[in-house]
Amino acid sequence: MNDKILLHICCAPDATTAIERLDEKFQVIGFFSNSNIQPFSEYEKRKEAVSVLQDYYLIDIIYGNYDPVLWKKEMKGLEDLPEGGARCRKCIFLNLLETAKTAKKNGINFFTTSLMTSPHKDVNWIKKVGNVIEWNIGVRYYHEVFRKSDGFLYSVKKSKLIGLYRQNYCGCEYSIYDKDGD
Ligand code: SF4
Repeated sequence: MNDKILLHICCAPDATTAIERLDEKFQVIGFFSNSNIQPFSEYEKRKEAVSVLQDYYLIDIIYGNYDPVLWKKEMKGLEDLPEGGARCRKCIFLNLLETAKTAKKNGINFFTTSLMTSPHKDVNWIKKVGNVIEWNIGVRYYHEVFRKSDGFLYSVKKSKLIGLYRQNYCGCEYSIYDKDGD
């Protein structure tokens, strides 16, 4: 029996490639929390897409807390920073930390993130922060860059095939007018 891994699902489209590649090595369990996503109507759409993914791949998904008020407090002073800067780093750190804590609570030995499918994310920084969280929480961070070997392109095609909702901004209200996708 393969080890279990908790996959932080940033969005259903990015998770397609991640799930398929992880499935060769792990028993994959998804984790969807993402208090960064605003407004609530958008959160609902992305959550619904994750449930479509769940039915398609027949995997378990843990749905975490959604607390955008607390998330905004955490981002105080960082609101106006450009995408990819300190606000995004804190946002990603919080999501990975939540994932690792949830993995620990549920007896899952590994965690990782579907952010590794996105062409917009700094995968080397995510690796570093994943390792720091591993050291602090005691759950192993698994590093794999899912966007490699046309992983992002594959996720776009697969999402269309399954009929998944695909967002056109990263997630928080500060990114709504920065239509760089995910
Ligand atoms: S742009 Fe995306 S990564 Fe950056 S803070 Fe907003 S939701 Fe988080």
